[in-house]
This record gives sequence, C-alpha cells and structure tokens, in this order.
Amino acid sequence: MNIAIPDNVLHAMAILEQNGHSAYAVGGCVRDSLLGHKPYDWDICTSALTEQMEECFADFRIIPTGVKHGTLTIIVDEPLEITTFRIDGDYLDNRRPSGVLFTRNLSDDLCRRDFTVNAMALNSRGEITDLYGGREDLEAKRIRCVGDAETRFDEDALRIMRALRFASTLGFEIEEKTASAIHAKKHLLKNIAAERIQKEFTKLLTGNCCEILAEFSDVISVFLPEIQTNTDTLRRLAASSADSALRLAILFGNASAQTAADRLHALKYDNRTINQICLMLDSAPAEIRTERPQIKRLLNRYGEEDAKTVLAFHLYSEKITDETHRAATTAVDDIIASGECFTLSKLAVNGRDISALGLFPAKQTGKVLFTLLERVMDEEAKNEKDSLLLLAKSLKY
Ligand code: ATP
Ligand code: MG
Repeated sequence: MNIAIPDNVLHAMAILEQNGHSAYAVGGCVRDSLLGHKPYDWDICTSALTEQMEECFADFRIIPTGVKHGTLTIIVDEPLEITTFRIDGDYLDNRRPSGVLFTRNLSDDLCRRDFTVNAMALNSRGEITDLYGGREDLEAKRIRCVGDAETRFDEDALRIMRALRFASTLGFEIEEKTASAIHAKKHLLKNIAAERIQKEFTKLLTGNCCEILAEFSDVISVFLPEIQTNTDTLRRLAASSADSALRLAILFGNASAQTAADRLHALKYDNRTINQICLMLDSAPAEIRTERPQIKRLLNRYGEEDAKTVLAFHLYSEKITDETHRAATTAVDDIIASGECFTLSKLAVNGRDISALGLFPAKQTGKVLFTLLERVMDEEAKNEKDSLLLLAKSLKY
C-alpha cells in the first residue's frame, strides 16, 4: 500500500536525511494511514539529537517542546513534533521512566512503544519498518503489547487505558495475553493521575465501547465503581449516539446525580460535562410530553443545548418511546426555529416594566414575570408588551 506522506512531513524528513541523520514517521500516523484513515497528526522520530535538529532547522521556527525527552516542535508549514530515538530508563511508580537515553537505532525506539500497531515506522521512500507484526495485527484487528504485556503495564499502567481506548475506537479486540495482563494489573491504575484515565475513558466511550466495557468491567470498576455494565445497560449504550456525556449518564443508570457528580469530580471531568450528566440523571421521564407548552417548559428548564440531550437520555434509557422522542425533538426544533418565547430574556416585558406598574412589592417582581412567562409558554397569552402588562395588572397574590 502506498502511503501519501504530506509534503511538509517529507520536507522535514528530507532535511534530516540530507544532513546525514535518519528520519521516520512513526506511531499513530503509520497505523492510521495503513487503516486508510487520515492521520490526526504526523510524528517524526530521528537519529539526530535536539542540538543537531536545531542546526538542520536553523531557518525554521523551533519550539523547545520537551528537550529533556528529545522533542522539538518545528514549524514546517504546520507544527511537526520531531523526537530523537530514545530508550526509556527504568520505570518508577508504574507511570514514568526515571530518565531517557538517546540512541542511534530505530529498533530501540520502536521497542519502547506500547502496542504493535503503534510501533511501525515509515521512511521517506514509503518503506515500513514493522518489527513486531504490527501490520498483521492491524489486519486481524488486534491490540497486542510490544513485548511482555505484564511488564509493559508494570512500567506504565496508563497503557491499560490506552489498550481499551484503541480497541474501542478502532473496533479491535485485545489479544489474549494482553487482555489477561490488563485484568491482572488493573490495580496499578490507582497510581495513574485521574485526569489521564478520564481522557482515555472519554475517548473510549465515543467508540465501539460495549464489548470492551463488558469484557473489562472489573477494570472500569477500579476508577468508576458506580456504573452499570449489565447486558441491558450495554444494549442501551450500543443503540445510543456516540456522545460521551450521554453514554456516561446511561452507564450511571439509577445512581443519583450527587453520586455521579462526586465520582465525575474525582475523575476531573469539567463542570459543563458534570452539569450535563446531572441534568440527565435528575430529569424525570414524566416531564417528557409532546405538547408544545410542555416542550417549552422543557426548553426553559434545560436550555436549548441540553433539552435534546435529556430527550436522547430518556429514549436510550428506554423510558420514552421512539415516537414520543421523535415528536418531542421535532417540536424542540420547531419552537427554536420560530423564535417563540420560553425564557425570561425573550419575554416582551422585564422587571423594570413590572416595577413601573407600582402594583407589586419589589421582591415579587420575579414571581410576576415567571407567571407571565408560564402563560406565554402555555399559549394562553401573547408575548406582547401591552397585553402582558394588562395581564400583570390582573394578577393577585
Ligand atoms: P492518537 O494520537 O490518535 O490518539 P497515537 O498513536 O498517535 O494515537 P499518541 O498518544 O499521540 O497516540 O502517541 C504517539 C505514539 O507514541 C504512539 O503511537 C505510541 O507509539 C507511543 N506512545 C504513546 N504513549 C505511550 C505509552 N504510554 N507507552 C508507550 N508508547 C506510547
Ligand atoms: Mg498522536
């Protein structure tokens, strides 16, 4: 298979080669190209040390991204990460090497990489170096550790999450020895920063995650003990759209919003995601009705962005029918498109208008406005200033 290396990557490789160094595209870009996917970015590895790279790229902008680890970012049209071939030193705490050693050999660099499918290198002539059977594993759709799986997870337990994530997003299975090692070493995840686990888990959720969640539910329990991975939940998850917040809410099943929020905070999820998941868990299927006034109340309570997420949550939790879901989402779209009023900010009167009537104590202004909004949402009153002021005058508290 001919891999199309982008011009700027070829240019950078040619500069290194012209100066007597070797250079390869490596890792994810080779894997993705062989799969026929467009790589997200192209990483280059080279025999050149960072000071030699600086000489080679004297005419380019250079960002010293990680000099200690042999990495510079060179702007060749776009930022390109170039890293000296390296050997990782002994690993401490199951998460980081004590130091790195630079080497002249590509093979040393490839053997430190996590999985066979991530350990292939491509030279400027389009030739692939594949020392661990990466291509065969790609064809068989298999995630397999480079070397002894247990040792590799002892070195860096984040690889456990990476294995699950790649299996999910690529739709691969995890080779037997790698899978047993994941089960055996899952407790080492306790040594990994919550945020790094969370990032991998979030990516995992956007892929073909059901089989992975079922097979490795014991591993997921190490950092997310509250979620459900029974057959029913996973069937619902499989049917759902690949949205990580929606899928997390489905996995939390019957857990309270508070339980979910505590766990999600511990995993360093951002507040927006936590709020969204809590909204879903807190919402009641009984709130979902298809009449326009009820839909406007739904929009008022959850906002334009989250109303549909709440609808999807109840659909995939099998609490509302397809038909109800379809009718409700159509009504949501229609109400938003027509610009109808479902928030105080769209109401034709405001607090100052109500105060100016001189009929209500200041502390009741909010209540009056909300009553008017309810009448408008219920389509009992028009959203027009004069008629709303008239209506306000008739209110008694
Ligand atoms: P993507 O960027 O699509 O998530 P990727 O394979 O490019 O996938 P990166 O995290 O960008 O993943 O890492 C680049 C390469 O570095 C990997 O392909 C792999 O060879 C190596 N690598 C990354 N993290 C590890 C790790 N924890 N242990 C060993 N090798 C790793
Ligand atoms: Mg990458």
